Amino acid sequence: MATIPTAAGTIDSSELGRTLAHEHVFVLGTEYQQNYQDWDEETRVAEAVTALAELKSLGIDSILDPTVLGLGRYVPRVRRIAEQVDLNIVVATGLYTFCDLPFQFHYNGPGLLFDMPEPLTELFVRDLTEGIGDTGVRAAFLKCAIDTPGLTPGVERVLRAVGQAHVRTGAPVMVHTNPHTQSGLVVQRVLAEEGVDPSKVLLAHCGDSTDVDHLAELADAGSLLGMDRFGLDELLPFEQRVDTIVRLFERGYGDHLVIAHDASCHIDWYTPQDAARVAPRWHFRHISEDVLPALKARGLSDDDVDTLLVANPRRLFE
Ligand SMILES: [Zn+2]
Repeated sequence: MATIPTAAGTIDSSELGRTLAHEHVFVLGTEYQQNYQDWDEETRVAEAVTALAELKSLGIDSILDPTVLGLGRYVPRVRRIAEQVDLNIVVATGLYTFCDLPFQFHYNGPGLLFDMPEPLTELFVRDLTEGIGDTGVRAAFLKCAIDTPGLTPGVERVLRAVGQAHVRTGAPVMVHTNPHTQSGLVVQRVLAEEGVDPSKVLLAHCGDSTDVDHLAELADAGSLLGMDRFGLDELLPFEQRVDTIVRLFERGYGDHLVIAHDASCHIDWYTPQDAARVAPRWHFRHISEDVLPALKARGLSDDDVDTLLVANPRRLFE
């Protein structure tokens, strides 16, 4: 048992229940929004409440929302939504970049123009222990990213700061990875150098790959694997996503897997029309309506589904 902060108060890890391990409430570019977009706060909040309440009605109890700096996280809005739905929204701290750091950190840090202890670590620890801004909402886990550009200087600074914040707080770590470049191996090496407990690391987007040998290698080193982009069939078709999970279960890796859609109530990276055309099943209902029945048709038991949805996410926090 462990205590987990959420956007609407603290819960015990036993209350997480059926958990989608990677869903966003909002992904926004605030600067674009303020200058160019028709943003109706009340409408967007109401839409999010409806979508998340529907998720609860489909049997989901919690989501892990890895929206951090760089993705437009705004916790007062998320808290307002969380207070209106019977669904635990677990929020994160961290920074999302594939290359460079934002200029708020570029000149500040050890050995830099403004020489100081790593400000990223200090900020992450404060978000985890005291709360994000003045919201009083504490982040429950850390999030960063590495993609095709690899371990750039900016990405490495964030990854090491995330590792240091984990060591100081014990908070679990989620990293956006690209399984096609095997960047999960880089994550494991760097975080091990920082002293991170490998069983507290969730490598997101492993489910974009069908390379079971590579995924098994990542799991053997202790990580959880995010099979977390159901609905993004353009990146990997549905049947292959299901098949990869079944094959990992057959090889004994069921207790290393979590599932999700990586969907959002609203994301401004493209229009809703384009998203619906390119990825028509990329929504919060897909796992409950399509994925779980398909996994059971391929032989997974109710206990296996509980392992994916309940036991594995819970263990990350205990
Ligand atoms: Zn995501």
